[in-house]
Amino acid sequence: MKKVIPFAHDLLRETVKPGEIVVDATCGNGHDTAFLSKLVGDKGTVYALDIQQQAIDRTRLLLEQQRIFNVRLLLADHQYVKTYIPATSHGQIGGAIFNLGYLPGSDKQTITTPESTIGAIRALADIMKPGGLIAIVVYYGHQGGQLEKQELLDHLAGLDQKEFSVLQYAFINQQNNPPFLLALQKKG
Ligand code: SAM
Repeated sequence: MKKVIPFAHDLLRETVKPGEIVVDATCGNGHDTAFLSKLVGDKGTVYALDIQQQAIDRTRLLLEQQRIFNVRLLLADHQYVKTYIPATSHGQIGGAIFNLGYLPGSDKQTITTPESTIGAIRALADIMKPGGLIAIVVYYGHQGGQLEKQELLDHLAGLDQKEFSVLQYAFINQQNNPPFLLALQKKG
């Protein structure tokens, strides 16, 4: 069975097409940004957001090392993602990914919060193409993580099944709060 992040990438691979616009809502060290960049290719665009300068710097370095040029890096809170994407592209976003929690290798002081995460998911769901998919990798072992996990599950479980399909992918016999995946797909 695939681990959570490879499984999330598989779902995006099945959904996103070359040339599309996609979003990495928590770019961190830039690994998902690089993955999305390759998925959409030269004619596509990745909007990669993070609220910490340290994460933007690390992602920029990774992109330079990999000679990646189709990424717009934004030091910004992801709940305002809509304001950075031109209105002409609203309704055409192919996919998005979140990795919740803190930046690996940081002081763990800055974490994703229920308010901003759910705000960003709402905003992205609104501007997604029909069939577009949002993958959310949920880490919840840190302080504040349980609350975010519960609010997110409550929010996503309450979405209208006529508008969205929502999936949970989780290993239920692992120790120490293993990450799990939530994915929502907009119906066409
Ligand atoms: N996907 C990343 C990678 O491949 O390395 C790891 C992301 S890390 C688990 C979570 C990131 O979310 C941190 O870098 C943190 O700064 C960022 N973050 C927290 N709150 C945010 C917000 N409101 N908007 C955007 N990014 C945020």
